Amino acid sequence: MKTIGNTLIRFFTLALIWGVVTSTTIAATAQQPDSEDDVEWYAIADNVYQLRYEHYYTIFVVTDKGVIAFDPLSDDAAEHYVHAIKSASPGKPLLAIIYSHRHTDHATGANVLRREFGDDVPIIAHERTLAYLKELADEDIPLPTHTVNDKGEVLHYGDTDIELHYIGYGHTDTMLVARLPKQRMVYAVDFASRDSVGWREMPGWPLDELIAMQRRLLKLDFDKVAFGHGRAGPGDRETIKRQILYYENLLVQARAAISNGLSEDETVIRTALNLPQYRGWGNYNKWFRLNVRGAYRWVQEHELNQTQ
Ligand SMILES: [Zn+2]
Repeated sequence: MKTIGNTLIRFFTLALIWGVVTSTTIAATAQQPDSEDDVEWYAIADNVYQLRYEHYYTIFVVTDKGVIAFDPLSDDAAEHYVHAIKSASPGKPLLAIIYSHRHTDHATGANVLRREFGDDVPIIAHERTLAYLKELADEDIPLPTHTVNDKGEVLHYGDTDIELHYIGYGHTDTMLVARLPKQRMVYAVDFASRDSVGWREMPGWPLDELIAMQRRLLKLDFDKVAFGHGRAGPGDRETIKRQILYYENLLVQARAAISNGLSEDETVIRTALNLPQYRGWGNYNKWFRLNVRGAYRWVQEHELNQTQ
C-alpha cells in the first residue's frame, strides 16, 4: 500500500509540475490562441456576457435595441468578440463600444468590431482617454467619438441604462467604472481583479489611491462585479473587500519590515511567511514576491520621505 501511495504521490507531483510548466509556457509565449481553450464566452447575468481571451476579460450587454460592447482587447480577440456577439444576439446592431480606460491592451480591437457592425458605431471613453489616444495616434486604435468627464454619465439604450462613473486615479486617471442597475452589476478593470495578486512590482501604481478607489467602488449599489482579470466569472462585494485587504496587508507588512530595519529581500521572505492566505490566488507564483517589493518601495518613497 505504501509503495502504491508513494507512486501515486509521485504521479500527482509530476502532474502538478507538468501543469505549472505547461501553463507558464503558454502564458509566456502565446500571442495567438493555440486552441479554443484560450477563448470562451458565457452569460454572467441577464443579458450580460463575459468574453475571456487568454488572461483578459471583457463584457457585452444585450438590450432590446442592440448590443453595447466594452473593451475589445485586441484585433484578434475582437474577431472572437464579433462571433460571440452575433451568436448571443443574432441580427442585433452594435450600438456602442466603450473603452474602460486608456491602456491599449484593453482598448485595441474596435476596428474589427466596426468592420462587422458599421464604421459609424460610436466609441465612448473618458475625455482624458481621448486626449491620450490622440497623442498616441495609433491607427489600430480608433478615437472615442463621445467622451465622459469626471462627473460621469448615464447612457440609455432602450430598456437598459448603463452608468459610467469616474471614481479615482488608482489605475490611470481615465478609468470609467460601468454600473448596470438592472443587473446590479459593475464592470471594474485593472484596479481590482478577482482573487489575483497585482501586476509585477505594481510600477507607478498609487497604492493609497488604489485602495481608496476600491473603497469608493463599494459605495456604488451592486451585488456582482465583472473584472478585466483574475478568476473567471463574476465576483461580488466580498471579492472587492478581499482586494482591499490584500493591498492593505502588503502595506502593513512593508511598513513593519522597514521600521524593523529589514532589507527588501528579507521583507519578501518575511511577507511570504506572514501572508500564506494568498498562496491560492491567481498569479501568486509569478508576481506575489514582486508585489511585496513594489509595496516596500512604495512605502519607502511615499511614506518615509514625507515624515523626514
Ligand atoms: Zn490598464
